Amino acid sequence: MGLLSVGTPLPWTEVAKHVEHVREHGVEQLIATYNKYKDRKGDCLKWGDEVEYMVVKLDQTRNEAKLTLRQDEILDALIEAKKRGELKKLNVSFHQEYGRYMLEATPDAPYTGEFSDLVKVEKNMEVRRETARKYMQDQEYPLTITVYPLMGVGKFAEPYEPPSGNTARSFFLPDNIINTHARFPTLTANIRSRRGSKVAINVPLYKDKDTPWPFHDPTIPWDRDVYPEDANAREYAAKDNHIYMDAMGFGMGCCCVQLTFQATDIQEATYLYDQLNPLAPIMLALSAAAPIYRGYLSDQDVRWNVISAAVDDRTPAERGLAEPDYKNPTTNDNSSPVIPKSRYHSTDSYLDNNEILLKNQEFYNDLPLVINKKVEKRIAEAGLPPMLVKHFSHLYIRDPLVIFEELLDQDDSVSTDHFENIQSTNWQTLRFKPPPNDDIGWRVEFRSMDAQITDFENAAFSVFIVLVTRVILSYQLTNYLPMSLIDANMEFAHKRDAVRTEKFWIRTNVMTQTPESDPGIKQLTLNEIINGSPEFIGFVPLVRQYLATMNADMGILCELDDYLTLVSKRASGELQSAASWIREFVDKHPDYKHDSVISEKINYDLLDTIEKITQGEWSLAPNMLPKKK
Ligand code: ADP
Ligand code: MG
Ligand code: MG
Ligand code: MG
Ligand code: MG
Ligand code: MG
Repeated sequence: MGLLSVGTPLPWTEVAKHVEHVREHGVEQLIATYNKYKDRKGDCLKWGDEVEYMVVKLDQTRNEAKLTLRQDEILDALIEAKKRGELKKLNVSFHQEYGRYMLEATPDAPYTGEFSDLVKVEKNMEVRRETARKYMQDQEYPLTITVYPLMGVGKFAEPYEPPSGNTARSFFLPDNIINTHARFPTLTANIRSRRGSKVAINVPLYKDKDTPWPFHDPTIPWDRDVYPEDANAREYAAKDNHIYMDAMGFGMGCCCVQLTFQATDIQEATYLYDQLNPLAPIMLALSAAAPIYRGYLSDQDVRWNVISAAVDDRTPAERGLAEPDYKNPTTNDNSSPVIPKSRYHSTDSYLDNNEILLKNQEFYNDLPLVINKKVEKRIAEAGLPPMLVKHFSHLYIRDPLVIFEELLDQDDSVSTDHFENIQSTNWQTLRFKPPPNDDIGWRVEFRSMDAQITDFENAAFSVFIVLVTRVILSYQLTNYLPMSLIDANMEFAHKRDAVRTEKFWIRTNVMTQTPESDPGIKQLTLNEIINGSPEFIGFVPLVRQYLATMNADMGILCELDDYLTLVSKRASGELQSAASWIREFVDKHPDYKHDSVISEKINYDLLDTIEKITQGEWSLAPNMLPKKK
């Protein structure tokens, strides 16, 4: 997560009084940052990944799996180990995450543009996992699963607490699964309060041959009346034939893999941001690893819209459901009372100042963009380029969600806390990151991918994206698609088995150099997009072409080839996605009754098998992973 300030977090009723203060100063901090670093040039390529883990306890004697809520202890042990020098030279760093059963790990120092760094990634991921494991208890394992299959089902977490906490007010998730740092429970409660109801996540249920249909979920405590929000489900929030979830933890409790790239300067950063944008849904679909939610097989394969709904703090008016309440103190100076998307969503506009985009603005930036008018005026006056004015005045339609009382008053010339407050709670597929200090340049973060089971796969997907950024910059690719088509692709990416069955909008003429050229927009399969077809060169062939000109060491090229082959075979369907492998595992399990229900035994066997695969037994999933060399 971004910012983890300390102090006294304000409850929503208090936050609402200060939202304008935070926005105003956040904008001044943005302007100060922009002025300080707009002419910064010549930063070298640096990059790094973030991988998230769930700490799963596997009791092999009782065939029982649980999430263990020991993030604090494990992170403390890792911090102590670091102090004692035990992590020296490992280049690993561990961070907090939303779920109290989660960890995040990154390389301690970022990688460089050196080719040899590309083959350090997998090893580093292995070391991170081994290191985390070393400071866990005997039966605890750090697993890179995107969603915990039995999240919110029975006694899924240890220590057990019944789901009746006042923070999330969930029917299913106890509050003790939330990271205890004040930021996280406050985020949870303030999202619920601002929205005026519990968040409502409805994932379509997979209809198997014996799934009761229509499906009216017997596991929802329909009649509970502990909190006012308990009425939400029965009145409107829980949909039949869907898996209903009602808390932030269902989304922010998912794992993913993210990548951050440093560009040479602000211009390259905006260009890279734009060109990577159309790849977000493509890589989401290709990384599909999330077919089960709250104990049910779903009809989708990826996590994205679950997180999106899990932090959707929009008021009814902002969701277009009620008359706008202009007296509501949280109403911003927005261009429209209705906000089409959650604050966790795909991006809404391109950022670069190049001719192709500028001359075809209406075509490519074709989403109606709600902006904060006051912020737009201020940052335009301050001299930010028009595209960045749009981008940031759009981010500023959101309220800050967590405010620490002690940090309200800041020196805007040195602090970026208020800026980061808004920035880090706009969770989009790409994030444009200004320099936080003199040591770091303008960066772009790629955030759409589901987490893969093995370090090999996570490394392969990460390295692939790194190589695509090299291709983009070396060949100066033009990858612009109308934003609305990227959003359409996001929808396609969610479909069950999208990898094999969906077609995605893409721009086939990526070598275009003029604003007038035909972009060649077509709908192609992932196989055609990744591996190429008569209509499009394909991203893997582009990367191979680039590598062929690089004079790299043979050993390195061989290892990179393993990664490209994995990506290529996932796209062609020769190897199945984690989502599809998990579905098959469930389907073949003797305990599975073809009613879409995941039992504790299936859950245990699945996670136990995943743990073994993680440890190198790839033959347990021969259709998902290549043969081990
Ligand atoms: P977030 O704000 O998304 O939580 P993190 O700090 O967790 O970001 O991770 C960012 C990633 O960026 C890490 O892998 C880190 O190694 C890497 N990184 C650190 N410094 C730079 C830099 N100057 N340029 C690019 N990447 C960097
Ligand atoms: Mg994270
Ligand atoms: Mg992080
Ligand atoms: Mg961070
Ligand atoms: Mg990140
Ligand atoms: Mg290898």
